[in-house]
Amino acid sequence: MTKLRRLLAIAVLFAFAPFCLASPLPADAIVFEAEDMRVDGSGAWQAKPHYPNWYASKPSKLHFLAGSYPGLGQAEQTLRLPEAGTFRLHVRYLDIIRFDHRSFQVAVSQDGRVLAEKIFDQESLRQTPEGEQRWGKGFGRFVWDNLEFTAAAGDVTVTLSKTSAEVSTGHVRQLDVFVLTRDLAYEPAVTDLYPLYVQVVMLPEQPGPVALHLFMRRSHAPYYSHANINAQGLFLGSTHGADDMPDAHLKRGQSSPWVNLSPLLTYSGSDRMSFSAITTYRGKPEPEAAFELIFSRTPDLTGLIGRPVRKGAGSGMIVAFNNTTGELVPEEDGSRQNLERARNTPEVAGARPRTFPMLTGMALTPEVSMAASWERELEALATIGLNGVGQVRPPFVDRGFTRNIASGFYFHLTRPDCKYVVDEQKLAEHMAKHRADIDFSHVLAFNMMDEPGFELEHLLNCAVCQRDFTAFLEAQQITAAFPLTDDPQAGSAFYWTMRFLIHRMTEKLRAGTLAARAAGITVPTMVNFAIEVVYSGNLVRRGADWFDVYNSGALTFGWHEDWASHSRTYQIIGYQSDVMRAACRRSGIPFGVYNVLQVHPWEIQAKAYTEIGHGNQAIHFFNYGPAYSISSDTNSDRPEIYAAIKQVAWPVGAVENHLTAAKTAPADAAQLLSVTNDIWNAKDDNVFGKERVYLNLLLRHVNVRLDVLSEDDLATELARYRTLFVSDAVVKRTAAMQILEWVKQGGTLYMTAGALEYDERRQPLDLDRDLGVSRKPFTLEEQPGRAQFEMPKLKELASVQSVPVVAGQQPPFLQRSTVGAGTVVSLGFFPGLSYVSRAGSETERPDGSIYSEVDFPAAHRALAATWAKGRLRTDHHLIEANVLTAPGADVIVLANWSGTPMTTTVTLDQAHRYAEIKAVNAEIISQTQADGALAVTLRLAAGAFLECRR
Ligand SMILES: [Zn+2]
Repeated sequence: MTKLRRLLAIAVLFAFAPFCLASPLPADAIVFEAEDMRVDGSGAWQAKPHYPNWYASKPSKLHFLAGSYPGLGQAEQTLRLPEAGTFRLHVRYLDIIRFDHRSFQVAVSQDGRVLAEKIFDQESLRQTPEGEQRWGKGFGRFVWDNLEFTAAAGDVTVTLSKTSAEVSTGHVRQLDVFVLTRDLAYEPAVTDLYPLYVQVVMLPEQPGPVALHLFMRRSHAPYYSHANINAQGLFLGSTHGADDMPDAHLKRGQSSPWVNLSPLLTYSGSDRMSFSAITTYRGKPEPEAAFELIFSRTPDLTGLIGRPVRKGAGSGMIVAFNNTTGELVPEEDGSRQNLERARNTPEVAGARPRTFPMLTGMALTPEVSMAASWERELEALATIGLNGVGQVRPPFVDRGFTRNIASGFYFHLTRPDCKYVVDEQKLAEHMAKHRADIDFSHVLAFNMMDEPGFELEHLLNCAVCQRDFTAFLEAQQITAAFPLTDDPQAGSAFYWTMRFLIHRMTEKLRAGTLAARAAGITVPTMVNFAIEVVYSGNLVRRGADWFDVYNSGALTFGWHEDWASHSRTYQIIGYQSDVMRAACRRSGIPFGVYNVLQVHPWEIQAKAYTEIGHGNQAIHFFNYGPAYSISSDTNSDRPEIYAAIKQVAWPVGAVENHLTAAKTAPADAAQLLSVTNDIWNAKDDNVFGKERVYLNLLLRHVNVRLDVLSEDDLATELARYRTLFVSDAVVKRTAAMQILEWVKQGGTLYMTAGALEYDERRQPLDLDRDLGVSRKPFTLEEQPGRAQFEMPKLKELASVQSVPVVAGQQPPFLQRSTVGAGTVVSLGFFPGLSYVSRAGSETERPDGSIYSEVDFPAAHRALAATWAKGRLRTDHHLIEANVLTAPGADVIVLANWSGTPMTTTVTLDQAHRYAEIKAVNAEIISQTQADGALAVTLRLAAGAFLECRR
């Protein structure tokens, strides 16, 4: 946004001059698109459409001329110069970091004589700090460069050629657009080619004189800006043009000049603009306003795009504009369209839930938007069954949006000398402000942070942390004087450094809860935890130990999110939910999840039914928007999400009386999550932690439901289970001894490669003899990497009953022993990693438009089916069943991950003699109850409930 920065600088210099009344494009400018140049027949230069990638902005007219094809070749453009002079020919192209064979040559000739030639893009213009600041960070960004020439009037030819026939990557030599001008001071910007003018017309109903404030969120960084429009024009900044120019405020019946908004816009996607009548920026918004905004590509009506009007309560209106398509969406049109989308959804069994929280974000407010607009949005969301929008304004609550999460983030409120310790004073003020601003009577939890994470690096460089570490060790009754270190080779010093990092995080979160309570905020406190436990296979790599946080009461409501980045299937939210459920078990607190909408609508549903089945007691569909408003991660412009949400929310409404009182039924087996293991593998690609994720998935695919236990849970919880799966290499010695005792008492222990080798001091546990196994040393042959990218390439090291051994091994691969009354099975490989690594897929990456069909191999399931038997079963591995127990009923929750409607038979052993079985969102074909088993055959789409009344 160089142009913007330049204009901002000008605006500061001429603080009282109106800004950008006219187009910044010089009057003599000749513009031509690179893709319109004449190419030779060699194929070395070809027009190429914009493609979704890492570059911000887009090519003008959404096309490049790409020389990213092999071979030498040329492209030409003839231009007619009306007058002689010295000219600058600017070219916009994609600058990418790192690759060779990128440069191209531009020559200008007249009457067969070359006037100028220059080789462009010999190296990235962003190699210097100045270049990076000017054009932006990142792998690819658009830049402008130019060459100068002097010519007589008449035709000139611009010839484009390559300096090399070689090609290093498909992204080099992508040219966008040329601008020719005699204005040698001109600095081009792509938005100069796409002016957008607006004129503000105050209507007769307008109460008093105002400036029109413009707050906008662009489609790429820098995201936000403020400006004001008054009778003299447009002024940049939040107060300039409003607070300092009362005489220039627009009166009833008055119009502003035409002002050009394009320097504030991107050329990329939807830029969202909130116009609001103000008298001073820091005052309250005007209670009502009446104005018209006339948008045009020209500073008159000839290029008219739209002229939205607002009247009545509220200070303004929201308008979205996409500069690449010219599409203008005022809130009135956008809200009508969204309501239409909601009304067009098919009928779904059930009702809009009243108690089970089904939320999303809806950013329109009565303070700014017209009542009709936000009323339509609320009606749309009520129609698809939502009952919370994160706002607790009376008119919203009156429309049934009573299940809300309020937010007040404080991650940044830290002491100047240590950013991992909160500033108590600022935090107290923060909480007092939120206590005063928010009516908490319709708030189910107070969200204080998003994806908190700490890094070891800070500890090592912080004097406060150094000092507090000593006190921390004393409190743990550790007498050794350990230094803070990020080196696992340092032994216990590293272990205690990681424990301190976790402690720092827990205490930072606890500070929020305590400050909220002190301010009189009594609702449960929460943060949204990120997905490390499935992404890195490491719960505590960034210091967030869910067990420590929830068991110690640092937060009182559990929350996480289902991005499942770089996984093969979003079904792993089941495992992540098992971990969250385990962390919330002891404190008995509820937990919920962000169901990320940016996936295929079938997966939105399969995720939601999986989430409910695994015990989540609130779902926030992230995020609605609306897409034309100033909010992030919006999805309201995807018509398919409305039916997807309704297919979850309405069935929930049918069984919510049970769901709100339900607990997940005891699982078939337990699975260990050793935080100590994750501490010792915090610097590695945690193969053991990743095995946990995919072993859980494999077992799920053979109908085995797992409860996760932490090391500290074993003493009280393990006795309830007959089978335990352990993948972690490092386990506290006391926990290992508890496992051994439990085996002797009759438990069955499954260990995968490398499991149970070390204690918390990373000393050998020497447990193999007691466990009756004899194992070769564990070897890690390859890092597991990410499930989407590296895991499919893992080499086959050996094979066990047609199951490939990957990543690491510890022969023998199958070894069974009897210990006391119990059994130990040592699996000297990683069955879970093998399962996901050999899962075929039709698509490389699921995005919002493609369902991620994954073809998991059968051999793994044949083997895993011998390890444990599920009490609740379906007859297809991609349909998972969970059972929730509530007073008066059991609810079987089905999630169909196959991507297509299926007929399946669900069997529940040790079932009650149910008085009534009812399917919600599915059709029962047959049912039997005999010998204590329930069998129901039904036809379902992505998810359904079976309500089994006792
Ligand atoms: Zn510090």
